[in-house]
Amino acid sequence: MGQAICMRCNAPMDGEDVSGGDRVCRVCTSTLSSVLETLDLPAAYVNRDLTVMTSNLMFKKLFEKFTHDTRGLRLGEAMKCHGSSGYGRCGETSLCLHCGIKRMVDLAHITGEKFADIPLVLRDESGTEQLIRFSFTKAEDSILVMVKEETA
Ligand SMILES: [Zn+2]
Repeated sequence: MGQAICMRCNAPMDGEDVSGGDRVCRVCTSTLSSVLETLDLPAAYVNRDLTVMTSNLMFKKLFEKFTHDTRGLRLGEAMKCHGSSGYGRCGETSLCLHCGIKRMVDLAHITGEKFADIPLVLRDESGTEQLIRFSFTKAEDSILVMVKEETA
């Protein structure tokens, strides 16, 4: 095992628990978390490769229905996307080629533009499709993803 490095600030993560794929240091986690908790929407910071750096409580409640940490999961895994259950890692399966969420994260990275209220369909593990409005905002090297559920 090599030295674990924070994927946000590149600081070595000495003495931190990096099991479970968590690769953001404590300082960055608390910085990003404090921003997210000021928002009144479910929100998460994701990396270019769709790894969730941290998410707020509303996001965890919306998708997780349990309390465990979403850090280190890919966005699709945290959102229980059907593509991430049995096909491979989120962002790397053949289904991901057609994923609007992945495409928008890429676009926000490349252009630096903010994309607000983009309606996208998320199909969950049970095959249920849900229309969700996503916003994507570039923040440093990550993308702030905000989620608005459509009320039926
Ligand atoms: Zn850091």
